[in-house]
Amino acid sequence: MINNVETLSNIPFIVMNGADWFLKKGLPKDGGTRIFGVSGMVKRPGIYELPLGTKLRTIIFDHAGGMKDGKQLKAVIPGGMSAPILTADEIDLPMDFDSLAGVGSMLGSAAVIVIDRETSILDVLSAVSKFYSHESCGQCTPCRIGTSWINKIVKRLARGEGEEDDIDAIIRLASNIKGKTLCPLGDAAALPILSICQKFRRELEGYLPHA
Ligand code: SF4
Repeated sequence: MINNVETLSNIPFIVMNGADWFLKKGLPKDGGTRIFGVSGMVKRPGIYELPLGTKLRTIIFDHAGGMKDGKQLKAVIPGGMSAPILTADEIDLPMDFDSLAGVGSMLGSAAVIVIDRETSILDVLSAVSKFYSHESCGQCTPCRIGTSWINKIVKRLARGEGEEDDIDAIIRLASNIKGKTLCPLGDAAALPILSICQKFRRELEGYLPHA
């Protein structure tokens, strides 16, 4: 059996204080605490153990001290690289499994990545597509070919050599990965890429040569 450090570190306290003590720290359906790893453009990036259901705004602006150097919030990846992105208008939601699923994202690893307005969304998309293209083991075709093609198209956009259909092509490729692979890495790649293309399409279109 394999467990991560977060799970193991909870066990002594649950044994000492009881399961109800732990569960009462969170929400009735999503009990306990979660370790939120906050990174990106915040004043106090770090690890925060907080009750499940703590608002994302509270995590960013209270615990992590708010935006660094007067920067403005643009987007948040709420649960690690595989979690679909949220816009700045979507941060008044509780950080628990159901609430994030309700807005089409997920709590995932609870690694909160805070992105400011000066950060190019194409850079975010590049980081995601490069990571998954590298991580694909190549066993199934949609993931192997799809992540590689997406990464090539994103690189082309970054060089200023994008083509008219590129954003739709990325969406088509990611849609053909989603739900069609042997392991969850396929969805983990497709979902954040789809959300970035859908929520920040206009910004991405600004990288096309004709724009
Ligand atoms: S979905 Fe999983 S099994 Fe299929 S190629 Fe990607 S990493 Fe390998």
